[in-house]
Amino acid sequence: MQTLNQQFINNQWVASKGTRLLDVMNPYLEERIAQVTAGDATDVDLAVNAAQQAQPEWQALGGAARANYLDGFADALASRREALITLSATNNGKPLVEAGVDLDDAIACYRYYAKQAKALDARQGVRVNVDMDGVEARTYHDPVGVVGLIAPWNFPLVTSAWKLAPALAAGCTAVLKPSEVTPLPERVLAEIALEIGLPAGVLNLLNGDGEGIGAPLTNHPGVDKISFTGSNRVGEAVMQAASTRTASVSLELGGKSPIVVMEDADPAQAADWVMAGIYFNAGQICSATSRLLVHEDIAEALYAALAERMDALTLGDPLAEGTDLGPLTSAKQRDAVKRYLDIAEQEGLTVVRDGRHRTLPAQGYFLAPTLYRDVPVESRLWKEEIFGPVLCGHSVTSDAEAIRLANASDFGLAATVISGDPERAKRVGRQLRAGSIWYNSEQLVLPETAWGGFKRSGIGRELGPWGLSAYLEVKHVVGPAT
Ligand code: NAD
Repeated sequence: MQTLNQQFINNQWVASKGTRLLDVMNPYLEERIAQVTAGDATDVDLAVNAAQQAQPEWQALGGAARANYLDGFADALASRREALITLSATNNGKPLVEAGVDLDDAIACYRYYAKQAKALDARQGVRVNVDMDGVEARTYHDPVGVVGLIAPWNFPLVTSAWKLAPALAAGCTAVLKPSEVTPLPERVLAEIALEIGLPAGVLNLLNGDGEGIGAPLTNHPGVDKISFTGSNRVGEAVMQAASTRTASVSLELGGKSPIVVMEDADPAQAADWVMAGIYFNAGQICSATSRLLVHEDIAEALYAALAERMDALTLGDPLAEGTDLGPLTSAKQRDAVKRYLDIAEQEGLTVVRDGRHRTLPAQGYFLAPTLYRDVPVESRLWKEEIFGPVLCGHSVTSDAEAIRLANASDFGLAATVISGDPERAKRVGRQLRAGSIWYNSEQLVLPETAWGGFKRSGIGRELGPWGLSAYLEVKHVVGPAT
């Protein structure tokens, strides 16, 4: 068993000043596979100082040179494909196929921001058309500076890529804190930094929990911006801490996304998309479409198709071929989801399939896929993010009702609309208040399109050119024309 009590600061592995150690688990075997330092504020100080020292030169390199390093990250991740997929599946509990999807997403993200970094050079110093004679104004895009990047446990290597790649492309230097629940996959980024000769201090990787690293990083006066992905509770604390020094924040928080199935949809095809939207990664997806709004005319056929598919899912070893659903990532998360099953019982919800309907594997933090129908919109299960394999259905009689109920949520991260008529699906989709709307498809996450939410789902956008802008400050140089 490894003891990971070193931090990656200024291109060196140095002993963490933190004395607390945290267990890192294999959620399938329910076994401790490593211990990791909880970190310490002194680690944060050292890492932020290193990032501050490195920032001006990293910026001065220019976008084209920085792009080579981003391509280097993509190549190095690709060359470790099999090992990283196995590591993610082992630490997070997701099936191998899903860990493969994650890795490809991360690689595509580094490649995309390599291109964006190159393109940034041509955007520097562009002259602005101004109405005043004899005046010259030019636009520049400067990096924000030193950024603190805080990631959750549900998509190791992915959520960090969505932050680190655009931050480095922009010319920022970074202190990255992966989740203490899944600290293993991200450690490869330090190894890659050394391998590709990334200048010292550009990427600093700190392991630890919220108390040891997260809060000190958020509060550090040397950090110009925090980009955080995680829960609303912590996201709001991050925003409060940043407000005391007017540091900027990007927040990717929770969701309770709707999936609308219209009466002209094919029930079998719709059921496949509904399944993908909620049972991928055992439902531990911020964009999980966990509220099903189904037209009453198709409800019976859809619930029957869903029940059949749920029963056919294979629960088991994430490393075994043929596993559809792994365990939840931690005992804590499994217990949190179980509490919602208890609430459902107290509320008297109508069960199509519940988490206790089938025999679970002998070990592992498993819950069976769960589906409630005709869930009242006042139910806690309808309103709150559960972050597990739990789907709630509610029947509607019109598009207008579906739109109204879809939008009646504190969150607005994503939504899916399924109809036999793609134009109708798009029309309804346009009226939904969420950052990503899919129609007649599974959740397509593309590096070129933005990710982020309306309302309590967060502030700002990742991915696409917007993901780069999140790490840039706009500057104008104005004076007499020369
Ligand atoms: P979490 O908020 O518990 O932890 C997220 C990260 O914040 C971890 O690295 C944690 O160590 C750190 N942290 C904890 N306390 C902190 C503090 N006081 N200051 C700074 N950092 C602190 O979330 P989680 O349980 O890891 O992830 C699940 C949540 O993340 C869900 O709510 C989910 O919806 C959300 N999420 C959102 C997106 C998105 O893109 N919108 C993506 C993935 C997950």
